[in-house]
Amino acid sequence: MKPIVKTSRRDFIRTGSIAAGALMLGPALSQLALAKPGKRLGVALVGLGSYAGGQLAPALQHTKNCYLAGIVTGTPAKATTWAKKYNIASKNIYNYQNFDEIAGNPDIDIVYVVLPVSMHKEYTIRAARAGKHVICEKPMALNAAECRDMIAACKKANRLLSIGYRLHFEPHTQEVMRLGQKQVFGKVTQIDTGNGFTYNGDPNAWRLKKAMAGGGGLMDMGIYAIQGSRYTLGQEPIAVKARQEKTRPQLFKDVDETVFWELKFPGGQKVTGKSSYNHDWSYLRARAEKGTFELQPAYGYDGLDGKINGKPMQIPNIIQQAAQMDDFATCVTLKKQSRVPGGEGLKDMKVVDAIYRSLDSGKWENI
Ligand code: NAD
Repeated sequence: MKPIVKTSRRDFIRTGSIAAGALMLGPALSQLALAKPGKRLGVALVGLGSYAGGQLAPALQHTKNCYLAGIVTGTPAKATTWAKKYNIASKNIYNYQNFDEIAGNPDIDIVYVVLPVSMHKEYTIRAARAGKHVICEKPMALNAAECRDMIAACKKANRLLSIGYRLHFEPHTQEVMRLGQKQVFGKVTQIDTGNGFTYNGDPNAWRLKKAMAGGGGLMDMGIYAIQGSRYTLGQEPIAVKARQEKTRPQLFKDVDETVFWELKFPGGQKVTGKSSYNHDWSYLRARAEKGTFELQPAYGYDGLDGKINGKPMQIPNIIQQAAQMDDFATCVTLKKQSRVPGGEGLKDMKVVDAIYRSLDSGKWENI
């Protein structure tokens, strides 16, 4: 295979589309589903906060198989600004009260729930009942029981459900999956991974309220590290033991700040992880029988980088969210399950639930 040219995201946007980028990626191409020619599907974003505004709407300017057709917001001023900026028809703008009327709108095929975690279940179920396919942001819900309800409701409505796990469409991450799952350097024997950032935001934000966020750094950031271990091994963990640390108990009085865990997998690998709202972490290191590989940063939107046996990976970054949404649009068109369906969110939430149980019990907890 030809060496892959390293490209910055800006170059990438300038030089071409996601599909063109996929051609550069070689192995990633087979994983990028291509839509049937014809209709681009309409996406409605629900909740116009920092992720919807900063990442998803801009990414939807680069998608091939779907486009930003509608919005759902409780703030009329945002509706006006977004309608102008993204040329959204007024008939495709909803608020939280009239949201269910979206059922009668043929412009909207996919509803993307980008709300605080405590609202994921309600809006996913309402969207499915309105006949729309759904992408729900991570963490999927407050706990595994809610995830099961969401999966059941989408199944009953015969609608596809996907979780906003953008990294499954990201080429460095795909390379780690390949190296680990295909045992390119023999079996993976050890993984250490962490994800976190130093929270200096609003002390009254929903992220710091257990009822709205479900938890703190573990729910928000740790979910990536849990998933990193799962996709590197291609196995499901069976038990976990966790402990936590709080250096700013006033700020994090309602939610976890920093959590450390050890996961037990069926293969007996040593797998440790950590999450934090008080440390800047983003790495995944894997040791296999005959080699090592790592990503750092491992979980961000951009600038991912990695090494294989100490040598740079030299893989370009892409617009992850554009690849993710295009893939889901293709899945909807082809009536095919997403590679990150609701069940994938449920698997992570089962681990999160067990970590919280272990923090309470101080013991190993089955997952
Ligand atoms: P945010 O606080 O910036 O946005 C939340 C939006 O929900 C706001 O527009 C807010 O007005 C709206 N909202 C509606 N009802 C609300 C209520 N009762 N209380 C508070 N807000 C309410 O949050 P965000 O960072 O955009 O995160 C939204 C979701 O996206 C979360 O689930 C988060 O975990 C997820 N997220 C995912 C990624 C990713 O990389 N996949 C990155 C960031 C956020």
